[in-house]
Amino acid sequence: MRLNPVRMACLPVRFVAIVVVCGVTGLWPANASGMAFWSAVSPGGYTDLVGSPTDRGCWGKTTIAYRFAPSFLAAFPNPGLRDQIRLAFEEWDTASATPPGSQYAYKHAGYKKYVDLRTVAVHEIGHILGLAHPEEAHGSGRNFAPTVAGSCSPVAAAAPPGDEVMQHTISAGNTNHVLSHDELNAYCSSYGTVDLDFVETGSILSTDILIRAADLFAPNTWAVAHPFTTLPGTAACDKTIFFGLITFNTNTAPDRKIGRMSKGINWDYHNLSGQPIRSMTVKTNTTNNPVPLAHYDNPGSHPFTLFTTSPSADPDHKEDLLHAWQTPPRGEVPVNAVAHIGLELDVWHWAALEPKAIAPGGTATAIALVTASSWYHTVVTGSPFASAPTRDGAWADRLPLGLTSGPPETVLASGFVLSVPESLPGDARLSDLAVAAVPDDDLTLADLNRATLQALAAEQRVRSVAGFGTRTLAPGRDFYVVMRGTAGDVPPDARAEDRFVLAPELADIADAPLFVYVASDTAVPVGQVGTFALINTAPLAGRAVREIALPYVEKPAP
Ligand SMILES: [Zn+2]
Repeated sequence: MRLNPVRMACLPVRFVAIVVVCGVTGLWPANASGMAFWSAVSPGGYTDLVGSPTDRGCWGKTTIAYRFAPSFLAAFPNPGLRDQIRLAFEEWDTASATPPGSQYAYKHAGYKKYVDLRTVAVHEIGHILGLAHPEEAHGSGRNFAPTVAGSCSPVAAAAPPGDEVMQHTISAGNTNHVLSHDELNAYCSSYGTVDLDFVETGSILSTDILIRAADLFAPNTWAVAHPFTTLPGTAACDKTIFFGLITFNTNTAPDRKIGRMSKGINWDYHNLSGQPIRSMTVKTNTTNNPVPLAHYDNPGSHPFTLFTTSPSADPDHKEDLLHAWQTPPRGEVPVNAVAHIGLELDVWHWAALEPKAIAPGGTATAIALVTASSWYHTVVTGSPFASAPTRDGAWADRLPLGLTSGPPETVLASGFVLSVPESLPGDARLSDLAVAAVPDDDLTLADLNRATLQALAAEQRVRSVAGFGTRTLAPGRDFYVVMRGTAGDVPPDARAEDRFVLAPELADIADAPLFVYVASDTAVPVGQVGTFALINTAPLAGRAVREIALPYVEKPAP
């Protein structure tokens, strides 16, 4: 390929995943196995990490400032959405010190009617650091993996195992917040042990990465990234990246709005353990955000006055969080009293693990907190969307590095899943399942309690599930409440063990935000639990902004 650095910079994309980036010098993006880099060489624009390892761009400075453009603030006005972008930068900020651990990737599947903003942001920042799409690069034989365990070099061409953050598609409802081994290897390859620090700025002059929003005129493209390079480069890279532009699409489909989908659950624990409670702890999975969106601390006569969330120190479970509620000395929750705790986290699929009530002497009692999560059974009915060129006012002549939708899916069944912790000493008994459709934004975490259940019941809005009755679940098992669908939609293991109920009487509220209540206890009578969950809520999302952002005047090369 010949590139004309003066005029053109970008050649048409011929098939799906070839991505082209145009900087002032007209470079091609490239990818490496697990490592995606960009370069000016053909074929396909992916760096040959074996033959020409320095043929790529990387940042030459270690403190990189990002700024939210007015277009982003207009399209994504909720401050909680900016927090999701900040978490995405934090993921890369800590890459140099992140051990790989035993788990290759942290992608979570599961259909929901939104696109996860943090997932998109982690991906696009990867492009701004010089990475491309591993599965696309592999199509050109230019995806690479280390040949020596524990090191990012030397490398050899290899197929990416899958689920990498830098894969070119992500489906609605899926999340992928944690760098896989592939991205960690790519970071190591370009930056070694250098610790890049990402800081937020309000200054136009100091902006290195601009976060903006625009109608990309491609409803299945979630965002695009443009890294800009100049000469000379650094020791590891022939070119220096000096500016990055990330553009989120404001005009995706109504059920593909880019945002955040949280879930809140409160629990009532009736303490029959025979000892007072000094503290309670709950581990959660599937989000590493160390700041819960909300927590409920047993307000009333025996409040937990100290709440803490600790990130996992376990490199094999990077998303686990440990939440702890503590009473002051001599403020313990008495025997026979009820303790109320709860959490709202920034993903829809988190679950409570290893919940415990801890007595003043340190004796821990496992308690049967239930997790409810909405559930869809979908079937793929098409091919993944190509990273199609987008028309965007500022970049009409350029082709992006983007992130596009996974293949179209058709919903076959929907409902919710109840799960019990694996840490329980014996089976849990679940009963009194009740469900109510509630308006969006009507309830906060503090409202998820028995009073709300009773108020909803008084208004005759609570629906029981006729076929549920009392169910016994072994530790760690899931139970499916199928509101729309058939037994054939239930996963085979749950079907074989009769861990499902068909509830066609709830079909009319299957798509509504749902208040779910279930009672639970364990065979050893150490406590009874009421679980109050709010699931299926609408995402906190951006709003459709049809205007095209004003063309951005690119920062001159230093
Ligand atoms: Zn991409």
